[in-house]
Amino acid sequence: MIEQEMDFENRIVSPDYNYTEDDGELTLRPKTLDDYIGQDKVKENLRIYIKAALQRGESLDHVLLYGPPGLGKTTLSGIIAREMGVNLRVTSGPAIEKQGDLVAILTSLNQGDVLFIDEIHRLSRNVEEILYPAMEDFSLDIILGKGPSARSIRLDVPHFTLVGATTRSGQLTAPLRDRFGVLLRLELYTPEQLADIVTRSAGILGIPIESDGALEIASRSRGTPRIANRLLRRVRDIAQVEYDGVITEEVAQKALSRFEIDELGLDDFDRKMLTTIITNYSGGPVGLDTLAAALGEEAVTIEDVYEPYLMQIGFLTRTARGRCVTKLAYDHLDINGDCDCSQQKIF
Ligand code: ADP
Repeated sequence: MIEQEMDFENRIVSPDYNYTEDDGELTLRPKTLDDYIGQDKVKENLRIYIKAALQRGESLDHVLLYGPPGLGKTTLSGIIAREMGVNLRVTSGPAIEKQGDLVAILTSLNQGDVLFIDEIHRLSRNVEEILYPAMEDFSLDIILGKGPSARSIRLDVPHFTLVGATTRSGQLTAPLRDRFGVLLRLELYTPEQLADIVTRSAGILGIPIESDGALEIASRSRGTPRIANRLLRRVRDIAQVEYDGVITEEVAQKALSRFEIDELGLDDFDRKMLTTIITNYSGGPVGLDTLAAALGEEAVTIEDVYEPYLMQIGFLTRTARGRCVTKLAYDHLDINGDCDCSQQKIF
C-alpha cells in the first residue's frame, strides 16, 4: 500500500482544466477547422456535415463529442458555431440543476445556435427528460401547477444544435445517446501533432522556441493539448529566468525534469500506479476498484484520466481479469521481471 499524500488536483500533467495554470487558454483556442490540428477523421466528418447543413439552410444535427479531458471538445464546439455562422452558448451538466434552468437556456437561444453542454453525462434525470423533446421536435413539455389543477403546455424552441461532451459515451443514458445524429470520438494526439500545437501556441504567445524544443515538450504531454500548452508556459518561465529565453531541446529537457515529468510524460502518480501494480499484485491482473483503493483515487478518474495514456504508450493493458503492467513499463521503470498477463484476453 502506498502513502496517500499526493496532490492529484494540482498534478502538473492533469488533463483537467486548472484555473491558475490554464487561465490563458482562451487565446490559444483555434477558431476554424483549418487551425485545429490533428483529429483528421473528426474534422473531415464535421466539414461534410457542416457544408451539407449550410447548403440546405438547416441547423446542424446534434453532435456528441467523447474522449478524455483536454483534447479539444470545447474548442470544437466553438469552431462548429463559427463555421455555421451562429452563436455559441456554453454550459455544463452539473451547472444545470433544475428543469427551469434548462428551459431558460433553451428559450433564449436563436435559430441555429449551438448549445454546448460539457460533462453531459452528469445531467440529472429530471433535466434530461426536458432535453428529449427539445432535441427531437424542438419543443418543450412544461407542467404548470401542482395536483389536480396541474396542466401541461407545449412550447416551441428554435432549431438549435446541441453539442454534448463527455469523457465516455458509455456513461450516457441510451435515450440521450440515441438522440445525437453525429457521434465523434477524439483520440489522444501524436507527439508530432502536439509539437505543431506547441509551435502554434508559442507563436501566439510570442515565445521563441526551436522545433526540437517543441517536440521535447510535446513528447511529455501525454497526447493532450491542454497539458502541452501548460508545459509550454512553465518551460517559458524557466527559459526566461535561467537561460536566454529561447526554448531549445536542452532547456525543455532540464525544465521538465525539474517538474519530475520524465521523457515520456510520466509523473510520480503514474510511476506509483505502475509500481503498485508490480509490487503489490505481481504486475497484475488487478481489478480497477482494488487498484483505486490502493492508490486513494476514484476508479472513474483512474479509468478516464490516467489509463488512456498509459495504454496508448503500451504500458498498461485491460484484460478480462483486471489491469496488467507490460514488460515495456518494467523496462522503463528499471524493474526486473514481467507479469504473466500475456495470456489474458484484452477486452
Ligand atoms: P476539452 O473541452 O476536451 O477539455 P479544450 O477544448 O478546452 O478541451 O482544449 C484545451 C486546450 O487545448 C485549448 O485551450 C486549446 O487551445 C488546446 N487545443 C485543443 N485541441 C486543439 C487542437 N486540435 N489544435 C490546437 N489546440 C488545441
